[in-house]
Amino acid sequence: MNPHHILLRSTSFVRNMVLTKSIWGMVAIWGLTTLDSTALLGQSTEKLRTEIDKKASAIEPKLLQWRRDLHQNPELGNREKRTSQIVAEHLKKLGMEVQTGVAYTGVVGILKGGKPGPIIALRADMDALPVSEQVDVPFASKVRTEYNGQTVGVMHACGHDAHVSILMSVAEILADMKQNLPGTVKFIFQPAEEGPPEGEEGGAELMIKQGVLDNPKPEVIFGLHVMAGTETGKITFRPGPTMAAVDYLKMVIKGRQTHGAKPWGGIDPIVAASQVIMGLQTIESRQVDVTKEPSIITVGSIHGGVRNNIIPDSVEMTGTIRTYDDGMQTSIHERIKRTSEMIAGASGASANVFIRKQYPSTVNDDRLTAYMSPTLKRVAGEENIIFPCAKLTGAEDFSFYQRKIPGLFFFLGVTPKAQLASAASNHSPLFYIDEPALITGVRALANLTVDYLSAPMKAETAKK
Ligand SMILES: [Zn+2]
Ligand SMILES: [Zn+2]
Repeated sequence: MNPHHILLRSTSFVRNMVLTKSIWGMVAIWGLTTLDSTALLGQSTEKLRTEIDKKASAIEPKLLQWRRDLHQNPELGNREKRTSQIVAEHLKKLGMEVQTGVAYTGVVGILKGGKPGPIIALRADMDALPVSEQVDVPFASKVRTEYNGQTVGVMHACGHDAHVSILMSVAEILADMKQNLPGTVKFIFQPAEEGPPEGEEGGAELMIKQGVLDNPKPEVIFGLHVMAGTETGKITFRPGPTMAAVDYLKMVIKGRQTHGAKPWGGIDPIVAASQVIMGLQTIESRQVDVTKEPSIITVGSIHGGVRNNIIPDSVEMTGTIRTYDDGMQTSIHERIKRTSEMIAGASGASANVFIRKQYPSTVNDDRLTAYMSPTLKRVAGEENIIFPCAKLTGAEDFSFYQRKIPGLFFFLGVTPKAQLASAASNHSPLFYIDEPALITGVRALANLTVDYLSAPMKAETAKK
């Protein structure tokens, strides 16, 4: 990812070089082209924008109705049957070509505009989490279900109910004005963003495998996520690595069982495991370039032994690895293996390390981010933009789409100002969405669509 490349191309839009003010200065410094909101794309775009604003206000009651209904009826990953049925019926009613059952419960709607233009994709995730809701709202979830052999509460604790209802609203607004829409929009309603049930595939990766980015192939993709702890209506985003790659770590330290009073009679895997855990923490602090990207290695579970005076045969640990750069990710995996094996080996124990890649890093395309910045700024108001926002150590499977085509993933604040300090985070049973924020999400996605379709980003013609 090199933010310093210079684009040499002719364009009818005003170059970003005039944007030296405050946060937008950063964009200007990169020399990336922006789709400037003041350089009119033509009256037809301006008309479409005005229409979006009108239709967005009108659709708000429906948006809230959808959101509350989905909130009260949450479904876990790959089981979003009711949700996807509601979505599919809605898209069909809007006259779209609709594909269902993609990656289990995914729905894809294609809206062909009345004018020629590019193809873009918008994505919303649909799944809820095994969390028992504690929020005191009339539409709180009381749903319980079976999950990994346990009965659990189900809650939209990550706000995917908001994402679905926002995208349903965007679909209706754009379908309503499709005669004047210069291009095609692919609406992707995706299951299992939080991960599929044990033993199943799912989410963005499976949707791509099943061809969601082919026939027709979108040239860019946009998505958003509601964010607790950020003020209602604020939009935050950044270019480049935005959310972390997540990898699953499992390790078995094998020793030899002996009496707790006679450690020399065996090999103690508990002491070896302790040394390994401390050793793993020196990878980030001593071995990788901390100025390049941050990284995290967390051991989250450790199990060994059954009784106070028996040194057990082995210890099992699981953990999570977070990185932002592919090269660092590979290097950290190798270092985890080497560090664990050699530290365990020092005492005669052995370490068996298993790492499974889950989601790659969510990386916003530099050019697309710069190009669309003015649109988000216009929609939210400059005072409501936080750019560049801090990186998030959480992960998102939106990253899989971005590995195939340029994508922009941004965040929408949903916490009232007075509650910012005490807001429960996403995934908490107290996760709360301040509903007036949602219409900003609708306007953002609809405007990104119309602006991009009206003036698609040209292919990069030269680099320096
Ligand atoms: Zn989540
Ligand atoms: Zn989420």
